[in-house]
Amino acid sequence: MNIYQTINAIMDEIEPIGKDSVNKQQGFKYRGVDAVMNALQPLFAKHKLFCVPEVISSIREDRTSSKGNLLIYSIIRVKYKFYAEDGSFIETTVEGEGMDSGDKATNKALAIAFKYACFQLFCIPTEEVSPDPDKESHELKNNISDIEKKNLIQCNNCGKEIKGQSVNGSFRTAEEIKEKCNGMCLHCYMKYGKSKDEAKTEQTKIEEVEVQSE
Ligand SMILES: [Zn+2]
Repeated sequence: MNIYQTINAIMDEIEPIGKDSVNKQQGFKYRGVDAVMNALQPLFAKHKLFCVPEVISSIREDRTSSKGNLLIYSIIRVKYKFYAEDGSFIETTVEGEGMDSGDKATNKALAIAFKYACFQLFCIPTEEVSPDPDKESHELKNNISDIEKKNLIQCNNCGKEIKGQSVNGSFRTAEEIKEKCNGMCLHCYMKYGKSKDEAKTEQTKIEEVEVQSE
């Protein structure tokens, strides 16, 4: 089979790939590189197709995360040549971007580039129609959008960000904590939250305890 017949044969057999992987930092689902590889590799082998990548260009930049850590940002342009059994081939060039706090920015960029080359070349059916953010995301300093700022769950009293945490042995999300604590963080709720009178009593208790301990 030549390259056109081979690609058509693979497109004929490929199954939809769902978004089964979850981004741990932000909770969104994505189609992992592994899922794409697992779906394609048996079909490549069966129809005797293989792919040769060639990095055409790469750019690396240092960036700073919102927490002040160094992030390496890598953009690469990769040419993929897909060869059929008879030696005929097609080539496609795509760009991939990756960001990492260690040494994996280029690895990530390569994986992303291959994933999208395959998505587009084979027109891989997906179970959901939406853009596909990548596995990890990084908040950059001076780069948090207003929307993200608005999505921060903040304490109505002290203004600090409320984060999900374990309360009495079970995990509560930031939203749950805010709702249960009259719009405040746990700290403020313990201090002032329950009602003004109770809070006064508590404050008095705290003062009493402090006096006693002196
Ligand atoms: Zn607070």
